[in-house]
Amino acid sequence: MTVTVTKSHIVVAQNASGRNMNVPVYRLTAGRPGPKVYIQSSIHGAEVQGNVVIYHLLQKLKHLAVYGEVILVPNCNPIGTNIKAGEYTLGRFDPVNGTNWNRGYFYDEARVLDFASTVKPGTSVEQIKTRFRAYWREAIEQKLASPLGLGLAQQLNLQLQRLAVDADYVLDLHNGPVSARHIYIPENARSAAYCFNIEHCIFIPNVFAGALDEATFCPWWTLQSALEESFEHPPSFGIEAMTLEMGSQEVVKFDEGEQDAISILTYLNQRGVLNENHFQPKPMRRVGVELTNYKTLYTDFGGMVEYCAQPGSAVNKGEPLARVLNIDELDNDAATFTVTAPCDVIPILHFPSASVLSGTQLYKVFTQYYTLTENQ
Ligand SMILES: [Zn+2]
Repeated sequence: MTVTVTKSHIVVAQNASGRNMNVPVYRLTAGRPGPKVYIQSSIHGAEVQGNVVIYHLLQKLKHLAVYGEVILVPNCNPIGTNIKAGEYTLGRFDPVNGTNWNRGYFYDEARVLDFASTVKPGTSVEQIKTRFRAYWREAIEQKLASPLGLGLAQQLNLQLQRLAVDADYVLDLHNGPVSARHIYIPENARSAAYCFNIEHCIFIPNVFAGALDEATFCPWWTLQSALEESFEHPPSFGIEAMTLEMGSQEVVKFDEGEQDAISILTYLNQRGVLNENHFQPKPMRRVGVELTNYKTLYTDFGGMVEYCAQPGSAVNKGEPLARVLNIDELDNDAATFTVTAPCDVIPILHFPSASVLSGTQLYKVFTQYYTLTENQ
């Protein structure tokens, strides 16, 4: 059975000229039963590498035996990608309302618990999944139809979430500022850490803060927890959603994108979307951290900064992270100073500019991290 690729477009916004702004939606299936996968990229407009990853995914999936359906939505925020200021893309916030483009997805715990109270013992997992998906789609539709309207980012988010609502596996492709590759994995899907070829893994709890991954796994996780209290043999839904940070923003690397695509295919292979022996997780070092130990290092100074630490490389307590120049003190010993690691850390990303104000997020670092797999 060959894979067919169907392309359609959804309207996610309208510009001031009244013109529709579209997003392409590629659906790949070979007509075999199987899971549904939803992958989007560039909800933050400067984070463009995911589009290359999706390009490679599409090229490779066309020639593979796909089970179920894969939905690919590249450049899912056509507004964000086009907001430029000088050389840079201001892709993180909706410029009209100031909201983060990745914080307007829908979740309502009370509605999940309402649903849970209607599930009768003996209902099959598939029946619960089918009914809950219809229920959740209706909740998203109702939110979209809010009589007083919604902000630009939220409208965009909800239309994308509607596309993803039936998916078993949801991957949201992002980039850090200057960043090593890392992945956010829900704690109830820890095994996924061993399925990608990504070294740095952050495990996150069942807490909703507005992002797509949370909006996908929180309802199912909460439903499962609620049913565990009342069912003797609680169902396991197996819905997984993750945010993958594919290196640095404002960067496109085709060759690295191909490796990222292989990493995703490796995960999909473990989840039954493919049945290909050659997509096996690489024997490599993998490091885990709980979200509470993924810390932001803010500056209490302003100045010009050299970033001494390479994202992804461990820095021991007391070793240098950054060297700072203060141009108001050039004539004395305070002209330069060094920022050192307050404890053993792995810097994962740093601020992209060398000039910083006080209160800048200089680095985000793993603390109290641990080894998941060794480099063999
Ligand atoms: Zn992002």
